[in-house]
Amino acid sequence: MTPRPSILILLVVTAAMTLLPASAQERPAQSASPAISENVSSFIRTTGGNDPAAATQAWLESVPRNQREKSNAYFEGGYWLILWNFVLTVAISILLLTSRFSARLRDFSEALTKIRNVQIACYAILYLLLVYALSFPLNLYENFFREHYYGLATQSFAPWLREQLLGLALTLTGGTLLVVVLYAAFRRAPRTWWIWATIVMLVFSGTLVLIAPVYIEPLFNTYKPLTDSKIRDPILAMARANEIPVKQVFEVDASRQTTRVSANVSGLLGTTRVALNDNLLKQCTLPEIRAVMAHEMGHYVLNHGAKLLTYVGIFILIGFALTRILFDAAVKRWGEKWGVRGISDPAALPLLALILSTLLFIATPFLNTVVRITEREADAFGINTSREPDGMAKVALKLGTYRKLNPAPLEEFIFFDHPSGRARIRMAMDWKGANLPPGESRASGKQPATH
Ligand SMILES: [Zn+2]
Repeated sequence: MTPRPSILILLVVTAAMTLLPASAQERPAQSASPAISENVSSFIRTTGGNDPAAATQAWLESVPRNQREKSNAYFEGGYWLILWNFVLTVAISILLLTSRFSARLRDFSEALTKIRNVQIACYAILYLLLVYALSFPLNLYENFFREHYYGLATQSFAPWLREQLLGLALTLTGGTLLVVVLYAAFRRAPRTWWIWATIVMLVFSGTLVLIAPVYIEPLFNTYKPLTDSKIRDPILAMARANEIPVKQVFEVDASRQTTRVSANVSGLLGTTRVALNDNLLKQCTLPEIRAVMAHEMGHYVLNHGAKLLTYVGIFILIGFALTRILFDAAVKRWGEKWGVRGISDPAALPLLALILSTLLFIATPFLNTVVRITEREADAFGINTSREPDGMAKVALKLGTYRKLNPAPLEEFIFFDHPSGRARIRMAMDWKGANLPPGESRASGKQPATH
């Protein structure tokens, strides 16, 4: 929904960040049939929940084979798309550099005006448009045809394209601003730019998360307060129990774009908002909705927005430090051939994109793991707040429509930014099997001792 990450690698980290943590999205899709889930529930009831491993297996086996194969194919196709997007960025960058087209774009911008910032802005806009155009075929396949093929998309081509252009306009605005500010830092601090660039990226990311619920998300979807008290009140009760200062829950019309079930907490500080989508409302029962919303509240209570911003900040700092070394080496070797002068030369932007996208590609398993660990924390918070192990298991199965349910451990480490269905169901069944007491010592009738 927000600008396509593939457009500019400098924005990738930022975009990925806003999509993942604070707005941590749960995106299950169509469900395993409710009847099957009920059968599993009764199986687990009869076994008394004493064997979490067997219970987990029973849940997983409730998904019909053809459905599992389809979701595996969808998710595994995503592994290849990571590679193809990376290869495309590398190819575009190398093409722009070796053909000296980047140098010519820079010369054109310099001929246009004497003002440095305007030169940079001019280069940035042309560069972003060019990259968007060159990556459009892959974008079209990945985000339109492929989504339709797997039954996850609901939009026809015209509204899809309209949103693409809207996303492009946002990327041009945000991306150009970011590039202008970054180059101001590059000019003023040619040796320590990588430290300043990290700060710029963090401020930019934080601002994006802050303004997204107010200025960006409403451009793509309509958010309105949830009025059904049977759903709203149990959610607000969980929020009150955890000191989350929300007075209302929002419903978003995600069915405009997708069949996926989702909920999220987005924003920062005063713009924080809890929203669940209409697919979730239509497809899930109250226990499942409570399980999802308790997970989202976990992100809020455990301060995952700020924490992930910090972790990503460390990644960016290391990334820029390495970039500085690789960039200087590349310019020394090929700078003259490419017509690239140095860090403060906008003609070197494709080189920066090339290096950063390579580092990001290598860092994929580590970034996924950092996010997956925070997701697991939110799961643990969610199960303890909602106390809905079966609801959590059913939602995990619904998520399984687009995320492989039962991956190999190494596969989960490399590619999963959320725990797999198997891991989530096992957590729910372990929780259920532990049979925690309700915690009230009503029998004794004594007041708790104060210390
Ligand atoms: Zn989450």
